[in-house]
Amino acid sequence: MANLHTDETFLGWPFFEDQHRALAADLDAWAADTLPAIMDAPNAHTDADATCKALVKAMGAGGWLRYCVPAAYGGVFENLDVRSLCIIRETLARHAGLADFAFAMQGLGSGAITLAGSDELKTKYLPAVARGEKIAAFALTEPEAGSDVAAIASALTPTTGGFALSGEKTYISNGGIADFYCVFARSGEAEGARGLSAVVLDADTPGLGVTERIELIAPHPMARLSFENCRVPAEHRLGEGGAGFKVAMATLDIFRSTVGAAALGMARRALAEAVNHTKGRSLFGGPLADMPITQERLAEMAVDIDASALLIYRAAWTKDSGAPRVTREAAIAKLYATDSAQTVVDKALQMFGGLGVTKGVKVEELYREVRALRIYEGASEVQKLVIARQLLAEQG
Ligand SMILES: Cc1cc2nc3c(=O)[nH]c(=O)nc-3n(C[C@H](O)[C@H](O)[C@H](O)COP(=O)(O)OP(=O)(O)OC[C@H]3O[C@@H](n4cnc5c(N)ncnc54)[C@H](O)[C@@H]3O)c2cc1C
Repeated sequence: MANLHTDETFLGWPFFEDQHRALAADLDAWAADTLPAIMDAPNAHTDADATCKALVKAMGAGGWLRYCVPAAYGGVFENLDVRSLCIIRETLARHAGLADFAFAMQGLGSGAITLAGSDELKTKYLPAVARGEKIAAFALTEPEAGSDVAAIASALTPTTGGFALSGEKTYISNGGIADFYCVFARSGEAEGARGLSAVVLDADTPGLGVTERIELIAPHPMARLSFENCRVPAEHRLGEGGAGFKVAMATLDIFRSTVGAAALGMARRALAEAVNHTKGRSLFGGPLADMPITQERLAEMAVDIDASALLIYRAAWTKDSGAPRVTREAAIAKLYATDSAQTVVDKALQMFGGLGVTKGVKVEELYREVRALRIYEGASEVQKLVIARQLLAEQG
């Protein structure tokens, strides 16, 4: 990464303050210094559990996880600052996808506590998340409820002193290594989405089982979970009974733009790799970079990257400026940035020829890493629905 040039002029846009520019520079330097020792270790890419634990520890020690929690609980800003979260994800994803993943999950996995937890819950979990001492997870998806969140069937039933949780979750990032899970389950106050509640479940709760470890094309810790009559203390509920869907959507409202930012970081890295490679690769008596078709593709990649950055930081700035919801802006940012990053990475890989599909080459890794971003936290089709519904509602 050290010799590769990536555009930083976007940091001069009016969306940012000096503290954001300093964050981008400081984190970039830290990542260049610290991440190679973790990511180049033997088995770093095959033992994703150990790598993610090491990354969380290192990012906790570096102070970066403080951006995942509010200032009152060991964080940096009074409320989560979406521009900072986006800058961090963009920067980490440019260096190492797994570092971005480990950072993102500390924020997403504790976000529901930040938004809806009692002071007691915040005090118990958030400072430990910020220090990298507790690993967080967000458990929404079920085998029969992915895009259709309202179909969640895991049941949260009242018992003396709290609740009993039974059911199943799948595709849970950090499943198996998390210290706690923010779980969304059916509490039955109403039909569909209005009958869900959110609770914090400690990983050592009796009845919680990791029933399958799921292998991904770009490995990260991922599991299927089962809950058999897990006891949840009453004070572990996040918000009111029946508010679970609202809590989940408010959490995603903050973190969706950051998925786009991770895609943007991967696209920036792909463009930097492509420029570097095409300048150095000689074909038909001259550099590949001098050929018009190459230049057309490089230009298209640069346009996609700038457009993604504008949409992401528009959404982040709007949220940070006090907008209660940024559902439309965040959906547009995630949709455009993740779809276009896929195209940018694919174009970069094509410029590498056979080398591009060779294991261990960065563009090959990016090609595998960028794919899931169009699926999680709402697939591209779901983002289109969100955008269109809001548009139609606004037109009466
Ligand atoms: C890498 C990764 C990490 C994840 N991490 C987490 C996590 O930490 N916590 C968690 O709770 N979940 C997580 N998930 C789950 C993720 O949120 C779901 O996979 C996603 O919501 C899609 O649900 P599904 O897989 O059940 O697909 P389905 O809901 O079955 O959808 C299948 C496909 O149908 C299409 N589709 C969806 N809606 C529509 C529509 N209205 N019209 C037309 N087409 C449509 C989309 O292309 C979609 O991909 C993760 C998934 C992945 C891949």
